[in-house]
Amino acid sequence: MAATRIVRELMEAGIIEEFDVRSKNKSNKRTVGRPRTGLRMVPDGLFAAGVTVSAYHSEVSICDASGSLYAHSRLENLPFESGTEAAQFYAKALRELIEKTGIDVERMVGIGVALSARTAPDRSEIVTSEYFGWENDGGSFCREIQEIIDLPVEIENIANALAIAEMRYGAARDVRDLTLIHAATFVGASVVSENRIVRGASGVSGLIGHFRAEEQPLICVCGRRDCLNLNATGFALLSRLGKLDHQAFDRSRLPFYAASLLEALEDDNVSDLVADTGEKLAPALDCIAKLLGPRMIILSGHLGANDAYFEGAKASLERDFDYSTDGPFRLVQGSITSVRSAALLALHAFCFSDRLDFERFALRAKRREESLYG
Ligand SMILES: [Zn+2]
Repeated sequence: MAATRIVRELMEAGIIEEFDVRSKNKSNKRTVGRPRTGLRMVPDGLFAAGVTVSAYHSEVSICDASGSLYAHSRLENLPFESGTEAAQFYAKALRELIEKTGIDVERMVGIGVALSARTAPDRSEIVTSEYFGWENDGGSFCREIQEIIDLPVEIENIANALAIAEMRYGAARDVRDLTLIHAATFVGASVVSENRIVRGASGVSGLIGHFRAEEQPLICVCGRRDCLNLNATGFALLSRLGKLDHQAFDRSRLPFYAASLLEALEDDNVSDLVADTGEKLAPALDCIAKLLGPRMIILSGHLGANDAYFEGAKASLERDFDYSTDGPFRLVQGSITSVRSAALLALHAFCFSDRLDFERFALRAKRREESLYG
């Protein structure tokens, strides 16, 4: 009885709808009694917004209730020096996109923000961003966005946003223990144990970019010369290609690193070097597998999901670390882009959870009905 009432309320609010199961299953079996009715989300019943703060894909986006990308807009001239300035810039761009699509803000569950920073989603705070050079922001990034668009905001590290999206919509459906590696200019990881993101006591976890590796003529953001960030990453690849005129990672060059890496990955002549860069990730993958015992390791990001990089990492795992496809974990390529992961994060946080603001949707449906029928 409770289920029937809840279903009726969700249907009245325009969030779910009935459909004929037979027409979908194409089964010829004759059934006795009342024909079975299926329930599904109404794709345009509600929407979720996403903000991806990255030197690669600085975008604002909207996805529908089924998780399909509905609209997105890429942004240029990115302010990364200050978190506050960045938040205002993205929120204004998102407001413009919402206005352009004509979607009523009342129909949006919330905003997901995916960025290269360690975050504390329960406090809506950025804990730290080595990549952008931001300190703990006390929640100001989320507050700035809410000043401009009055919707709930969920903030998350890109690797974590990707891991959540892969669990719900991608390669890791039904996988409860996994590690997602996000490799681009630098490399970081998201660890999921029993469907929960492992954040650590300090809120800073997954910093595999500072695992010790071979010494290089480069300097990491931490000041060392022997980090994985200088071996298995886009930064390392650009150095080996002779594209860098400096040794120390320089935040003011983030857009340059991103554009140069994307360009290099388009070049078939570079694929051997890309594969070799992927091989350098293998020792870290082996450590992760032995320490955490995941069911799946996903390589994601512009470099991580690249075919040559992925095959390089896999080849080294097989050759040097006895990895095989019927072993305890599977190595797979990520299937979801960071742009889509931000909006999917909002769906995860504010639609498929007890944080769905049902009253707002119910009230809206009621007001619509009243205006239609007087
Ligand atoms: Zn380092």
